[in-house]
Amino acid sequence: MPRYAMVIDLQRCVGCGACSIACRNENNVPEGIYWSNKITETVGVFPNVRYHYIPTLCNHCQNAPCVRGCPTKAMHKLANGITMHDPHKCIGCKYCMFNCPYGVIYFNWGKPHQFWRNKDELIKGCTASPVEETKAVDGRVIPYYNPDRAETSDGIRPKGVVEKCTFCDHRVKKGELPYCVEACPAKARIFGDIKDPNSAVSKLLGKHRPFRLREGIGTEPHVFYIRNFNPAQYEATKGAA
Ligand code: SF4
Ligand code: SF4
Repeated sequence: MPRYAMVIDLQRCVGCGACSIACRNENNVPEGIYWSNKITETVGVFPNVRYHYIPTLCNHCQNAPCVRGCPTKAMHKLANGITMHDPHKCIGCKYCMFNCPYGVIYFNWGKPHQFWRNKDELIKGCTASPVEETKAVDGRVIPYYNPDRAETSDGIRPKGVVEKCTFCDHRVKKGELPYCVEACPAKARIFGDIKDPNSAVSKLLGKHRPFRLREGIGTEPHVFYIRNFNPAQYEATKGAA
């Protein structure tokens, strides 16, 4: 059984946010919820200013406090290391949110995708309403609904439960990459089996000294960061000519 992990190469990341948009489309992530997110920081005094951008997501911790604290086992570990959530077992108590040291779990306070429930025409007398648009395609339209997401969990999570990144378990199960990895134009995200010494993640972790977020607290995150952005060491990416 593999143990999945992600490496994020900060030298390659250009902070474009394509990963977050891809995640939103793939997983039908509602407004105000961010399975794929970022930490930004500006340091220095003008004109000597630096901007740091660190993409974030669920760290799929080996020693996951969100799982330990869940009274219903809704938050659980898969054998491949993915931290998974079952909306049908979730009672919305939010213990996992309080226990996660990374702030990557979100609570669905309202019915998701309010925009697509709007019956008003976007431009009066000129365009269809979002409701009419979704009805025309049987309610299954990106970004409202990617039916692939429903292969392993609810396609859209209901009001009153939590949700978070699943490393795109529905894609991984089919031998595909998480969609944030697929969509990254800079090849900054690398995904694979950390137990396989020949996998790309293992090789990168052997080559570069990685760090993990809050690694001193014993959660054993499985999202690893390597290098730091240095414009003097620009490398061509898959978006380059
Ligand atoms: S990052 Fe948070 S939600 Fe993800 S496995 Fe770790 S403790 Fe759980
Ligand atoms: S909110 Fe749901 S997943 Fe989180 S601890 Fe409560 S029951 Fe478990």
